[in-house]
Amino acid sequence: MKTNYDLELEKIIKELDCSNKKPTLLLHSCCAPCSSSVIERLNNNFKITIYYYNPNIEPIEEYTKRKEEQKRFIKELNKDIEFLDCDYDNETWKCTTKGLEDLPEGGYRCHKCYELRLRKTALKAKELNYDYFGTTLTVSPYKNSQVLNQIGKNLEEELNIKFLYSDFKKKEGYKKSIELSKKYNLYRQNYCGCIYSKTNKSN
Ligand code: SF4
Repeated sequence: MKTNYDLELEKIIKELDCSNKKPTLLLHSCCAPCSSSVIERLNNNFKITIYYYNPNIEPIEEYTKRKEEQKRFIKELNKDIEFLDCDYDNETWKCTTKGLEDLPEGGYRCHKCYELRLRKTALKAKELNYDYFGTTLTVSPYKNSQVLNQIGKNLEEELNIKFLYSDFKKKEGYKKSIELSKKYNLYRQNYCGCIYSKTNKSN
């Protein structure tokens, strides 16, 4: 049976509203457009740092373009959002997905790709004593929220750091991200990230 992860997020937010606490959140973000509606949804309840770890994005020019757009968006938003950068770790990503190159988008290669990015985020959140780690990836209708949240749950249990459950596409989250992208004139890519998704043009 599918879990309603939007409901899980609502529960967390309700508890925070009652407690008047504003915990720190290390939020993995894949790109500025996806982060836009997620930041809007969370910013009242969390002190957000955007964590840019996306070694899947190819070629490097595209990676740089998306990263710079993410930074520009946060700056223009002017809402006290921090930004934490990572190296372009494309060799690690290639190694992680080796042998899975021919699989269709949404399959096991993508699950490994999610796990790599979420694990790195969880480890960094733990190292820097964040209260939560999370990801913007569930805003995309192309990403499987059940799989993403299960990966987050596994990491939460393994590393003993709270995962922010979510299904950000709910409550018109995806639609809002498109509207905000227009408002801030954000660059919206036409493929997911890796060279295989670019070639297949399925996202
Ligand atoms: S299609 Fe997207 S999620 Fe899947 S492996 Fe490529 S970059 Fe990662």
